[in-house]
Amino acid sequence: MNKKKHRGFKFWQSIHFKFPLVFALLLLVTFQIVGAIFVQNLRTENIKSFKQRVELSTYVDNSLIASLQKTDTEAANKSIIRLLENVNNENITQIQVVDSKGTIRGDSNVNNRSLVGQKTTNGDVKQVIYKGRSLTKTTYNREGNRYYISITPLFSASGNTNTVIGAVYVRANMEPVYNSTNSVVLIFATASLIATGIGMALAVMIARAITTPIEEMRRQTQKVARGDYSGHVRVYSEDELGDFARNINDLAVRVEDSQETIDSERRRLNMVLTHMSDGVLGTDRRGNITLINEMAQEALNLSEEEALNKSILDILDIRKKTTIRDLIEDQSDMLLDFSTPEREQIWNASFSLIQKETGFIYGIVCVLHDVTEQQRIDRERREFVSNVSHELRTPLTSVRSYIEALSEGIDDAQTEAHFFNVAQKETDRMIRMINDLLNLSRMDSGRVKLNLELVNLNELFNYILNRFDMILDGNDEQKPQKNYTIKREFTAKDLWVELDTDRFIQVIDNIMNNAIKYSPDGGVITCRMLESNNQVILSISDQGLGIPRKDLNHVFDRFFRVDKARSRAQGGTGLGLAISKEVIEMHQGKIWADSIEGKGSTFYISLPYQDYSQGDEWDEF
Ligand code: ADP
Repeated sequence: MNKKKHRGFKFWQSIHFKFPLVFALLLLVTFQIVGAIFVQNLRTENIKSFKQRVELSTYVDNSLIASLQKTDTEAANKSIIRLLENVNNENITQIQVVDSKGTIRGDSNVNNRSLVGQKTTNGDVKQVIYKGRSLTKTTYNREGNRYYISITPLFSASGNTNTVIGAVYVRANMEPVYNSTNSVVLIFATASLIATGIGMALAVMIARAITTPIEEMRRQTQKVARGDYSGHVRVYSEDELGDFARNINDLAVRVEDSQETIDSERRRLNMVLTHMSDGVLGTDRRGNITLINEMAQEALNLSEEEALNKSILDILDIRKKTTIRDLIEDQSDMLLDFSTPEREQIWNASFSLIQKETGFIYGIVCVLHDVTEQQRIDRERREFVSNVSHELRTPLTSVRSYIEALSEGIDDAQTEAHFFNVAQKETDRMIRMINDLLNLSRMDSGRVKLNLELVNLNELFNYILNRFDMILDGNDEQKPQKNYTIKREFTAKDLWVELDTDRFIQVIDNIMNNAIKYSPDGGVITCRMLESNNQVILSISDQGLGIPRKDLNHVFDRFFRVDKARSRAQGGTGLGLAISKEVIEMHQGKIWADSIEGKGSTFYISLPYQDYSQGDEWDEF
């Protein structure tokens, strides 16, 4: 028998043990009951037949009656003894004949002959003679042997009444009867034990026939539970167990199939979660994180280990704003600001429940969507609208007040002319601003097409700067209030670049105008041009008041001015550099500024440049 200790149960709990044990006990109990009834009946029958066997025949009884009725006692005793000697019954140990007076008249036992003629001492015999009723009983001798005693009265038929004339005392050894029964019991017990033994052996065989396939099925199901789907259960027989084994094999195939489906679904889900641009967080019912995808880890700047099993309230830092109960009851969106000094980051967190159809809630799913850009655009739009309204309101208010003053009538002709002049200047500035705005809006919406042509940049730059020199030499009306000197430091090489001439002129004009505007009288403006790494770099440096470091990046923002009042006074719209930036970027170039406050500023423009002069293609032109 397999004594191996199995997982989960002991050997004595196994079918291997229980089945033969129960079988053996059943057999033993059956044999016990059958044996008890059988032995009881056998013994009763044996005793019954024994009693019949020890009964004296009627002939003997009659002969004894005849002898006892004889008057000659001597002769009668002799005939009684002769008769007793002739009784041939091996079961009987002793026969004694007693007459009605209690005198022993004969004994089958030779040793007891001396008793003949003496009075009997046996009370039972006396009682039988007295009562005239037979008596039987079982006694034991000194050795412990069982004896059967039968005392029968002898009657003489005189007249109408039966008179007791004596009694026959018969003693028979019962041991052989019991011995024979005992030997039968012994045989029966031995047979029972052998039968039980064979029964047990059969039970073991049956148990093994049942448990071997069950054991194999058990092992296979354990393997399947561990996720090992290899191998299958052998079908031993075409019965319930065989069917069971087949079902287990089918089941294993199904489990494997569904496991594969689940795995591939999980992989797909993981892929989706990993490559999603949104952050995803999953929690259990108590709001503790059970899932966090890479995007969410990145957004929250923590690892999966750091996040798992922590409350979503702490992870999103919203404990002060809400509770898990609130999230479950109302899943409205929330804006979360994770901005750092280095980086602005705003996420929209939308919550939903993982719920069964019955309403049971498994947990919460939170999707984090990056709305930084959207927020920035919204903010810029709001700022832009407020800027535009503000920019237009100021000149409009001043124009209105001048017109009011003029309509009321001004006596001084010079003041009147001045008022008209201011109103006109302000109106011009507003028109300029509106035009700039329209220009920007066209560029924003991509409606502006560049009119590209290959130009010699040295010539073009020179041409623009010459115009500024010309202004200085112009008549008084056009002549600016400030004086300046333009210095040129150009590379000798002709640089041919593809660009939209008109728009490029607009950009340089703007930078040059700024350089003049924000410089003191008589300043030097240095214009440089050089070629480096497939790029043309132009720079315009002034000796003006410069731009504070913190504002350097903002000068290209719409409506940004370092000093608002001053810029407006100079007629600036705050849109010039913003437009310049758009134009240069449309040319795939870059524009940036550098400045030392109080010393001056330098504006740089880089444009992509292909050196055709070194290529073969150039020669073909
Ligand atoms: P504006 O019409 O006001 O000149 P711009 O967009 O051309 O608008 O310039 C934006 C701001 O950048 C200006 O208001 C000014 O404060 C600053 N700025 C531009 N160029 C210079 C410069 N050369 N020196 C000092 N500040 C300058």
